[in-house]
Amino acid sequence: MAAKITMHKEGNLQVPDQPIIPFIIGDGIGPDIWKASVRVFDAAVAHSYDGKRKIQWKEVLAGEKAFNETGSWLPDETLDTFKEYLVGIKGPLTTPIGGGIRSLNVALRKALDLYVCLRPTKWYEGVPSPVKSPEKVNMAVFRENTEDIYAGIEFAAGTEEGQQLKEFLNHALHVDYHFTPTTAVGIKIVSEEGSKRLIRSALEYAIQHKRPSVTIVHKGNIMKFTEGAFKQWGFEVAEQEFGDYTYTWGQWERTKEKEGQEAANREQQEAEQAGKIIVKDIIADNFLQQILLAPQDYSVIATLNLNGDYISDALAAMVGGIGIAPGANINYKTGHAIFEATHGTAPRFANTDTMNPSSVILSGVMMLEYMGWQEAADTIVAALSKTIREKTVTVDFYNLMEDATLLKTSEFADRIIELITLR
Ligand code: NAD
Repeated sequence: MAAKITMHKEGNLQVPDQPIIPFIIGDGIGPDIWKASVRVFDAAVAHSYDGKRKIQWKEVLAGEKAFNETGSWLPDETLDTFKEYLVGIKGPLTTPIGGGIRSLNVALRKALDLYVCLRPTKWYEGVPSPVKSPEKVNMAVFRENTEDIYAGIEFAAGTEEGQQLKEFLNHALHVDYHFTPTTAVGIKIVSEEGSKRLIRSALEYAIQHKRPSVTIVHKGNIMKFTEGAFKQWGFEVAEQEFGDYTYTWGQWERTKEKEGQEAANREQQEAEQAGKIIVKDIIADNFLQQILLAPQDYSVIATLNLNGDYISDALAAMVGGIGIAPGANINYKTGHAIFEATHGTAPRFANTDTMNPSSVILSGVMMLEYMGWQEAADTIVAALSKTIREKTVTVDFYNLMEDATLLKTSEFADRIIELITLR
């Protein structure tokens, strides 16, 4: 019988065999790629569990479709449904121009306090890539999703509020900075709770997925009290709450100070041999070099909102671009999670049945993994990988491959389903 996914007291999701999962079909290319993807999900679930499990999809409205049907870009009913059913999935949404809503994605994240933006980046054999060794990239980026300069506290140049804030900074806080009337100001927010819950999630993920390291990426050399504190809080969480599983560079520094570098190196080596997760840090600009030079040295990444935005896109480009990049916004405490393609609505290609549905398909794979339906997730990944290895692909990949076969969005899904049922 169809039922809700719920959160158990101990923080475990309880997933019935027929969970009701709300979905937003999305604008622009959304309907094309959703219709293809949902057939893949249903086939994989039916095949993996001999028909014992089945997702009961429940459509909820958002974006242009919602606006046309209800006059609201994001009806309350949609938010209430996501709140009630915990886990959902969405296609890309048009960002309304003007009006009260900055972005529908931001509104959803805020309403459900989805504090983790998780973007796994992994290369699938055969996917065209601009780098020489894309197979070396296998990272899961945990981007803080609610704070930082993205909190939206900013004032335009020439406004009364902006002027008041500048005067407050100069006169009450004695900030020695020459603001001009044309200076706009924004505020960067980084809290201990916000940082720790994000880094805690990254550490839990690393333990669960047996990852070798968690790297805290930050600009603490310049922004000491925000980004620097983020790093410090990260090491604190690792040492205080995950001490049995981790060895931090903070510990290495302290041992080096007390007993010298050799002792610190020995300590780290022993920790590595014992299978502990190494918790290290790196300055964001250097990190953007290192992902090109030595991506194999990085596994799970924990970072603030703005850094995470840049890093996720740079990594996505390395493994095949936005047509294949999945993502999720998650609150691991309440269980709320919305899975989504990371690209936009590509309105020029709406209803052409030509775009790559892989980003939605892989978002669904993340969702199935989150639900604990690993067999179905693995089945899809195996079939999708084979389809790409066989060079039967949509136009974005076709244009970059030699001797490929061009498929429509729906045909690409047909091919994946064929491979699933052959397994
Ligand atoms: P976009 O991501 O929609 O498209 C940029 C280009 O990427 C497209 O022209 C297309 O060539 C390519 N592309 C995108 N998805 C693809 C796919 N599945 N397969 C193959 N190629 C693909 O970016 P945009 O044009 O800047 O934004 C269009 C709209 O989408 C705007 O309204 C924007 O606000 C919105 N948007 C929504 C989301 C979201 O809902 N998550 C994210 C980004 C942008």
